[in-house]
Amino acid sequence: MPTRDNPFLDLTAPGLPGLNPYVPGKPISELERELGIRDSIKLASNENPLGPGPKARAAVATAIANLSRYPDGGGFELRRALAARHGVDSAAITLGNGSSDVLDLVARAFLAPGSESVFSQHSFAVYPIATQAVGAQARVAKAKNYGHDLDAMASLVSNRTRVVWIANPNNPTGTWLEKTELYRFLAKLPTSCIIVIDEAYHEYVADPDYPDTSKWLSDFHNLIVTRTFSKVHGLAGLRIGYSMSDPRIAEIINRVRQPFNVNSVAQCAAAATISDKEHIKKSREINRIGMEILTEAFYRMGVEFIPSVGNFITINVARPANSVYETLLNQGIIVRPMGGYQLPTYLRVSIGLEADCLRFVDNLKAALLQKK
Ligand SMILES: *Cc1c(COP(=O)(O)O)cnc(C)c1O
Repeated sequence: MPTRDNPFLDLTAPGLPGLNPYVPGKPISELERELGIRDSIKLASNENPLGPGPKARAAVATAIANLSRYPDGGGFELRRALAARHGVDSAAITLGNGSSDVLDLVARAFLAPGSESVFSQHSFAVYPIATQAVGAQARVAKAKNYGHDLDAMASLVSNRTRVVWIANPNNPTGTWLEKTELYRFLAKLPTSCIIVIDEAYHEYVADPDYPDTSKWLSDFHNLIVTRTFSKVHGLAGLRIGYSMSDPRIAEIINRVRQPFNVNSVAQCAAAATISDKEHIKKSREINRIGMEILTEAFYRMGVEFIPSVGNFITINVARPANSVYETLLNQGIIVRPMGGYQLPTYLRVSIGLEADCLRFVDNLKAALLQKK
């Protein structure tokens, strides 16, 4: 547990005494160990309930033959495959040990004591952590309808701003920004700051007004777009993500990157899964079905929810969400309470397989019947 009377805090980098570490979703194994139960389900970390696709699985099996070797530190094959997939230069791609790694590298490369980063309230927890870890100052814009208020964000940008973080769609709210407003916002920002568009849930969004900002890299040389293999590709456990940017930015990020930050199994699995259109299609379909089951149930139950285009949905349980979270845990269902995101009466639920969604709904119903 973090504690403020830890004497070693006097010795740390300046941002660390006030830094609240990331709180991950509870692992199934931990819950089952604690309660002595089985058959639990985890709907807490926006993982793909189908797991990896067949191409990724086959690649993992093959990659085992080379485990005694260091990985390709430059990630040549995967970067080439990603470059072809996105129509960008290989030199534009930076690989990370999860896209969170890339976010952290961006912070280390561009933020320092005296500089600032801007992001939105109710946005991804890695932005404040990466900012504070390097002693920079976070400027947090108030949210609008749970999502990014781009005007409020623009008003916080100053000559000290070096990084602006935007998750599109946003986690944990599932809100998203459309092409026109986002493009206008980017055009308004000074070139003296790096703009990170975090597109971890890109593949789930079907709306034609939702932008693929990797197409804007030639318009905005200060733009970094991040993607991950943790969500629709079902490879969260392998830890692999990437960014696309101006190669000159990639070259700078590369200076702070560990030489072998992405393991060889992850590189092979990622390269194989890029072309697995069937698996992506299936995953999106499962997500659509689960989302429909949940939202219809929420309507029927009168549970308020934030409309989401991701593979998760955040609901207002209209009482301290931790109590509902605990009740669900006791039934072997792990979701995510949102107190750490200034949403103390909200729970975030990842979309699971149909049976898991139904089990969650039944248990939520029971939990909400209990006295507040
Ligand atoms: C899940 C998520 C990521 C991806 O994290 P990885 O480190 O790639 O597993 C990045 N950004 C947001 C907003 C996310 O929700």
